[in-house]
Amino acid sequence: MLPKNRTLFHVIAIAFLSTACVLIFSSYRVIATGFESQHNTLLPSLISLKQLKNQQVCNKYKNIGRELEPVNNQVLSSSEILFKTSRNDKLSLPAEPVPTIHQAARKSKVPVIMYHDIISKKQVIYDLTPQELQKHFELIKLAKMTPISINRLIAHLRTGSPLPNKPILLTFDDGYGGHYEYAYPLLKKYGYPAVFAIHTSGVGVNAGRTHVTWSQLKIMANDPLITISSHSKTHPALTKISDQQLYKEVVESKQILEAKLNRSIIYFTYPYGNYDLRVKKIVTEAGYLAAIAFGDPTEMFANQSKDLFAIARFEKSRLEKVIPQAWGSPILPQCD
Ligand SMILES: [Zn+2]
Repeated sequence: MLPKNRTLFHVIAIAFLSTACVLIFSSYRVIATGFESQHNTLLPSLISLKQLKNQQVCNKYKNIGRELEPVNNQVLSSSEILFKTSRNDKLSLPAEPVPTIHQAARKSKVPVIMYHDIISKKQVIYDLTPQELQKHFELIKLAKMTPISINRLIAHLRTGSPLPNKPILLTFDDGYGGHYEYAYPLLKKYGYPAVFAIHTSGVGVNAGRTHVTWSQLKIMANDPLITISSHSKTHPALTKISDQQLYKEVVESKQILEAKLNRSIIYFTYPYGNYDLRVKKIVTEAGYLAAIAFGDPTEMFANQSKDLFAIARFEKSRLEKVIPQAWGSPILPQCD
């Protein structure tokens, strides 16, 4: 081929190829656009299968309301917590790793109230008469609050599960005789759940004040309204004792309560509300799921606690102040 002809051939070839490229590209665009427009309706449903599942959960939740109870104690430490509803439906929610509090639970305000002795003649500021305790229960009822179990609070803190509109948790420290004589009958009368913190060496001891006996504790522990938490063996300031003593107080009190009451003890209440990193570590390693504190750094709602091993409380005298503020989370975290 002559050079002139060769150049002409190249020009024709380039023109042909360019035209072909434009045609192919155009048709690709037509095909692609068609594909896109055809799949625009399908794509979102493919992408959002998870959302769709959440939507189903949300729709289901609309009908099941706020009455979610963890099915048993075992699920409380799982990575997914299984709940039963008031209609006996089942619902599983993913949980944060222990001891993290779920972001959705940070929106709620659950007051945990700390009571001590209930006694007919008050001696110290921590005491309350049975009549005064009944007044507290009436206030709670009038304010349309719902006392919840600690299991329900922990499940909420781990998953962000909804709680009743105005939840509250009642706790009684130190295993006084008045707890069995006055507090327990009142709790049964009102149908309120509560936690009783027991230091094992005080059980049945009647020096100065009376304390619950093992047989009374067994009756209370068998009642679904009541949760028993360990409050150590001898009620020392845990931050001030040796590692060996600390281990005994935290581990052996759990073993004693479990053997005597024939059930798992998964909650610890720090004596005097005091703890530090060392105490928290031992309590965690001992197999507890959560621990109740007080006054560190100040009284606040459970949802504002640092983590599950520092559940904050309010002293009983703050009840009227916290009632207007109490609030359960609005909806399931997935429906935000
Ligand atoms: Zn105490």
